[in-house]
Amino acid sequence: MTAIAAPGAGVFGDLVGQDAVVAELRGAAAAASAVLRGEPNTGMTHAWLFTGPPGSGRSVAARAFAAALLCPDGGCGHCPSCHQVRAGTHADLLLVRPDGLSYGVKQTRNLVLRAAGAPSGGRWQVVLFEDADRATEQAANALLKAIEEPPPRTVWLLCAPSAEELVTTIRSRCRLVTLRTPPAEAIAEVLTAEGVTPDRALTAARAAQGHIGRARRLATDADAAARRDDVLAVPPRLTGLGPALSAAAALVKAAQAEADAITADLDEPERGALRRAFGEGSTGKGVAKAVRGVAGAMKDLEDRQKSRATRLKRDALDRALLDLAAFYRDVLALQVAADVDLASAGHEADVRRLAEATSAESTVRRIQAVMTCRERLELNVAPLLAVEEMTLALAAGSRA
Ligand SMILES: [Zn+2]
Repeated sequence: MTAIAAPGAGVFGDLVGQDAVVAELRGAAAAASAVLRGEPNTGMTHAWLFTGPPGSGRSVAARAFAAALLCPDGGCGHCPSCHQVRAGTHADLLLVRPDGLSYGVKQTRNLVLRAAGAPSGGRWQVVLFEDADRATEQAANALLKAIEEPPPRTVWLLCAPSAEELVTTIRSRCRLVTLRTPPAEAIAEVLTAEGVTPDRALTAARAAQGHIGRARRLATDADAAARRDDVLAVPPRLTGLGPALSAAAALVKAAQAEADAITADLDEPERGALRRAFGEGSTGKGVAKAVRGVAGAMKDLEDRQKSRATRLKRDALDRALLDLAAFYRDVLALQVAADVDLASAGHEADVRRLAEATSAESTVRRIQAVMTCRERLELNVAPLLAVEEMTLALAAGSRA
């Protein structure tokens, strides 16, 4: 997170194109301070649900709100409390992410216990649950109990892509905050303020389709931009069975490589930290016991890492599919003469060629094929199988 806050924006300065949400959260933070002073509650709630499309900044919004609740000054952005929230080290902020594909019941129960404690800073105990839609049913039940009977100073902030992805019982107990897809111009402005040239910033912002983090990566990370180019080079090559199958293999392989790179960065430091925690290299009494302990803990860690690697691979593949869908959406936009900014910057010639050579109906079928593939992957269909089905459908459509 970079400090690009407008003067006076405080902790909400990182939110792009979300004025209504910022106003609401500021109001609630002020109400929360009033409650702490013993005044009547005019708008503070103990459970919040932040929703919005990927990259719209729902966890950024939740984090900013946490900072505003914990800061004696309503989220000034520069006091020790605000800095600790930003760094993720504030004693009264529990940041929770699922270890792998989902939250287990054990992880959630531990969290509920910790959340019941009194805030050490005398304000609130804030629990920020990212990807709350990934809670298993048992975990959701544990969470529900905690939200139903919240300790007086505990605030739950849940984040999910949409409210529908949470069980109704949890959803109905939360106040809903909905972020919108930020306009490309607003994202480009942020990137420009960070030093990206205006042209490049706008291209990246359009390519990322409202996803700020992805826009930043595309503008600043040559590998990420190259991977996207590889994905967008796929449609013109889908001329038959052979090319369709090799394109599928390439897509899956690229997603794997991207996930491997992220995984490698995360895994080894975690293993090192665990070995140090068990006093690796020490000798004397208790070492045999520690060695047995470290083996068990290492096995736990490796299980979690494996599960996370699966999720990272799936996320990487999903990003590629979204880029493909955007490509065909651009084709469709030209075919129906819709007035939209094209997302497929750098590939306009291919978009135009396909728009002229095929029908809008076939483009709709292709977009559908990409979306079906995403759904199949979500259902744990083997990636290569699902992607092959998709590229074959895309290639078949090329004759229409
Ligand atoms: Zn502050």
